[in-house]
Amino acid sequence: MNDYIVRATAADAQIRAFAAVTTDLTEEARTRHQTSPVATAALGRLLTGGVMMGSMMKNPEDVLTLQVKCGGPIGGLTVTADARGHVKGYVNNPEVMLPPKNGKLDVGGALGQGILNVIKDMGLKEPYSGQTILQTGEIAEDLTYYFAASEQVPSSVGLGVLMNRDNTVHCAGGFIVQVMPFVEERVLRQLEENIAGMKSVTAMLDGGHSPEEMLFQVLSGMEVEITDTMPAVFDCSCSRKRIEKAIISIGKKEIEDMIADGKPIEVKCHFCNTAYEFTMEELKEILEKCNRP
Ligand SMILES: [Zn+2]
Repeated sequence: MNDYIVRATAADAQIRAFAAVTTDLTEEARTRHQTSPVATAALGRLLTGGVMMGSMMKNPEDVLTLQVKCGGPIGGLTVTADARGHVKGYVNNPEVMLPPKNGKLDVGGALGQGILNVIKDMGLKEPYSGQTILQTGEIAEDLTYYFAASEQVPSSVGLGVLMNRDNTVHCAGGFIVQVMPFVEERVLRQLEENIAGMKSVTAMLDGGHSPEEMLFQVLSGMEVEITDTMPAVFDCSCSRKRIEKAIISIGKKEIEDMIADGKPIEVKCHFCNTAYEFTMEELKEILEKCNRP
């Protein structure tokens, strides 16, 4: 696994920036969920945004969820990340196929109209939640809009996934640049100029640029300090025990019905697509657990 996130500040902390290479974790998501190219691109972009946004949180136990509810044929996406570079996610319709638009995978068309829900569970009574309308459905623009509208932090987000001819992931990654309220006009101008003159994320990654080099391009002409780097991985914390708890939570009646069907059941984790099988014997044991006071 070679994926990682870089964090940096620039221009005397007037800017904070994040960049990531996420090729391996996007490919892992693709193989786990058997996503079509456009679904891989959509999910890879959201995973990349999510893992960087996760790294903005303070505590190791904090959990960030990005949820897209949309009317397009992909049906929706969900990504969850923590503050330590772990990320997981899925799309509702992994097999969605669309003709390319302007020679590119039509992620905006796959999502269509919808909303982006950002939920941060930081161990407080109520999780923080912010909701914005999708701007283009291309995800980077939608996250940019979220930061401006919901968090009041002017940001620039670039995300990209490039596929190989055989529909595996060639490269994936992105960056998030945010300006602080006390930013000077000339720093802002420089940043806008840099972004306007930059190649796309996929062109940079494909050209062999590292996340650090991406940041040096976005922040060109400024003093940049890389504050830390952290590995990024597709990671799901599901287990047999957790799935068992989920079965218990659906109630005795449902479990009795499953047993009456006389067949073992298979339960798949949404996030990582791991299948857990429960035999009749095991279902009966689970029912026992429900019956215990
Ligand atoms: Zn899982």
